[in-house]
Amino acid sequence: MTVVNMKNLLNHASVEKYGIGAFNVTDLDMVRGVIAAAETENSPVILQFAEVHKNYAPLEVLAPIMVDAARNAKVPVVVHLDHAETFDTILQAMHVGFSSVMIDASKMAYEDNIATTREIVKIAHALNVSVEAELGTMNREGGGTNDFYDTLESTFTDPKIAKDFVTKTGIDALAVAFGTVHGVYTKKPHLDFKRLAEINNEVDVPLVMHGGSGLSDFEYQEAIRNGVRKINYYSTLAYNVANSVKEKLNKETKQIFISDVSLWVIDLIKEDVRSKMRVFQSSGKA
Ligand SMILES: [Zn+2]
Repeated sequence: MTVVNMKNLLNHASVEKYGIGAFNVTDLDMVRGVIAAAETENSPVILQFAEVHKNYAPLEVLAPIMVDAARNAKVPVVVHLDHAETFDTILQAMHVGFSSVMIDASKMAYEDNIATTREIVKIAHALNVSVEAELGTMNREGGGTNDFYDTLESTFTDPKIAKDFVTKTGIDALAVAFGTVHGVYTKKPHLDFKRLAEINNEVDVPLVMHGGSGLSDFEYQEAIRNGVRKINYYSTLAYNVANSVKEKLNKETKQIFISDVSLWVIDLIKEDVRSKMRVFQSSGKA
């Protein structure tokens, strides 16, 4: 199977009304776990690397591994760059064969976000690379004080501005803010599905949900019903797997080597990702 452009994959998901999981990977074990899950579920998948994770593995080291795993997978795989803030990182990812990038200029003033995003779209589309951009912000980590949740609404995506943004930039997918936050939730999130539905009515590109960790099955499916096609899922995955490894290590009585832990990690990632693919209803859609 070849590495595929995200636009085609998300458009298929729009027609058949399901969501596709986008799983951040920080090492080879995670790459193998995610691909194994997609193959077992016969699901399309988005394998992504976040610029913020470069301390775990440099992009230039992990990217060729991701692209190679995608090329050899039995299902369609998008290799995507998540939350890139610099021009250099985006070009570097395209150069090694990523089929999709996210330019996150959401912290900039609106007109600057448009100009920056447009520039990336122009280059990416010439190379058949899809582009995701963000409007509204979800750039704060999950957790924090009650204040954090109280002021969250002021950062939500405005449906009318979303339409203007998509038209002016020519992006392929739009990341929207409607109540999800990055990281592990410390307080139950209140998702504004009415707003999500309004955004979906205004724009004609698939929507992306960031901070897709730790929601209920109903919340995932309600988001999908309202136009979300790409669901970023990382924090809960990484947290759950770490805790399972901790438990297994504590219970283990025989000699254990770090290579054995790698195999556990692959398997734990695979099972968690498979369960999400079923919730997102992408199983069997490859
Ligand atoms: Zn994100």
